[in-house]
Amino acid sequence: MARIQNRLKNNSPGPFFVDSSCIDCGSCWQIDPEHFAPTEKNSYVHTQPNGQLEVQKALLALIDCPVAAIGAPKNFTSNLSTDVFPILVTKHFAGDIYYCGWSSHRSFGASSWLIVSPEGNVLIDSPRQSAPLARRIKELGGLKQIVLTHRDDVADHAYWAKSFNCIRWIHHDDAEAAPGAEKKVMGLDMIPLSKSLKLIPTPGHTKGSMVAVLGQKKQILFSGDHLWWNIEKSIVVASKNYCWWNWDEQLKSVKRLVELDIGWLLPGHGYAHQFMPGEWKEALVQTLQHSGKGC
Ligand code: SF4
Repeated sequence: MARIQNRLKNNSPGPFFVDSSCIDCGSCWQIDPEHFAPTEKNSYVHTQPNGQLEVQKALLALIDCPVAAIGAPKNFTSNLSTDVFPILVTKHFAGDIYYCGWSSHRSFGASSWLIVSPEGNVLIDSPRQSAPLARRIKELGGLKQIVLTHRDDVADHAYWAKSFNCIRWIHHDDAEAAPGAEKKVMGLDMIPLSKSLKLIPTPGHTKGSMVAVLGQKKQILFSGDHLWWNIEKSIVVASKNYCWWNWDEQLKSVKRLVELDIGWLLPGHGYAHQFMPGEWKEALVQTLQHSGKGC
C-alpha cells in the first residue's frame, strides 16, 4: 500500500501519487499515459485525473501496479472493483486480444496478454496470481496454453497452469525459470501452436527469448522484452542497455522479424503500438540502423 509520507516530490499536486517504492516497471504509464509518466528513476503522476472517467483510468493503474506504489484517498479506493481486467485491446480475425493487468513484481511488472480464440485461449506471459482475473478468464473460456516469452516474465505461471490445467511453452534455453513447463522449444525453428499462432525464437535479450505471432495478415506480435515502442522518438526499440545475453544475436533476431506483416506490437515493457500497412518493415529497418549506434 502506497504511503503518503513516501510520496515522491515530482508528483503533480492532488489526490493521486506515486511513492518511493516504485520500481519503474512502466505499467502505470503504459495503461494511463494521460496521468502517469516515467523519469530516469521512477514514475510519477504528471497530471491529476479530472472527472469520473479519468479517475477510473488512474484506478486501473493503481490496481495494476505490481508493488502498490500508487496511492489515492479512501473515497476513491474504498469501493474499488477488482473485476476490471482483462481489458480488450483489439479484435483480430484470429482472436480477441486483452491486456491482463495484475502485473507481478516477480516479472518486474511485465505486461501479460490474453488471446481469446475458437482455437483455444492463450495467455502470453504471466500476470500475478489473482482470483478476480482467474474468474474473468474462466468466463472467457479458460486457458488452453501459456506462452512464456523468456525467463524474466514467468511470475505465477504455475498458478495459472494449475488453475486451468493447461500446458506452458518456454524455450529450452530459459527453461530453468519455469521448471514445470510442459513444452520446450528447441533451437531457432518456428513452432506453430495452432493454425493462427506461432512461436519464433529470438535469442538476444536472453538466450531463450521468443516472440509469439498471431494471424497471417495485420499480425499481432507479442514481443516480450525483445522489442517495444518508444513513444517520444516514435521508433521500435531493441535495447542494448537491457540486453542480458548477447547483443549481436539480438540484432540478428530483429532481422528475422522484418518480413512480417505486423499490425500491433504488444511488448512486455514499453508502449504498445499499432502499425499501418507497410510501416512495420520501415520501422524495423530504422531500428536496426539506430541499434547499430548502441541504443
Ligand atoms: S506501475 Fe507502480 S511500480 Fe510500475 S512504474 Fe508505475 S508506480 Fe512504479
